[in-house]
Amino acid sequence: MNFLESVLTFIFPPTCGICGKETENYICKACAKKIQENYMPQIITYGNIKHCYIFQYEGIIREKILQYKFKDKAYLYKMFSEFFIKNEKVCRFLKNYDIIIPVPMTKKKIAKRGYNQTELIAKEIAKNTENLEYLNNILIKQKETNIQSTLGKKERFNNVKNAYKIQNMQKIKEKNIILFDDIYTTGATCMECQKIIMQAGAKSVALLTLAKDFEK
Ligand SMILES: [Zn+2]
Repeated sequence: MNFLESVLTFIFPPTCGICGKETENYICKACAKKIQENYMPQIITYGNIKHCYIFQYEGIIREKILQYKFKDKAYLYKMFSEFFIKNEKVCRFLKNYDIIIPVPMTKKKIAKRGYNQTELIAKEIAKNTENLEYLNNILIKQKETNIQSTLGKKERFNNVKNAYKIQNMQKIKEKNIILFDDIYTTGATCMECQKIIMQAGAKSVALLTLAKDFEK
């Protein structure tokens, strides 16, 4: 912990992301127990693409992710990051990669929301792993899209088509990349981003998400 962090911890002691009580680890023991059955880091594959996620998108976790995204609860990134960096299986998985890239939002959207929820978590994960470099100047969102959750499966794929572009291509040449997003539903966003990162010359791209939604 650096000086600024210790001062901040003194002024704003960490609180449990679920119940709001003061606690050391951003989630209190009682709440950790409550979400235990949903906390199941998994690594699955689609063809040759690996996907690591830690929750099923349901119950209290779903509620918290929605608050994190849409209700100005930026501070929840700390709790969500802990779920990744404190898990051995996830850490072992992350060791195979060089760079972590968050799924971006447009500048306009970030200005409106005040933060990009995927950036906060991806940055925190990189800070706590030795091998991962955090880069948010590679994958750029170039056009505004409709909110994916308001669309059907086919529309989601059309919605994200050509919505992203790559900059600073040389930085990802022959690198193993982790693409970070909050929720994986149909995979439309992740797969579109994965595709253009690969086209730009990356060696591999794996997906890392907080949750996977099994309903769609
Ligand atoms: Zn709690």
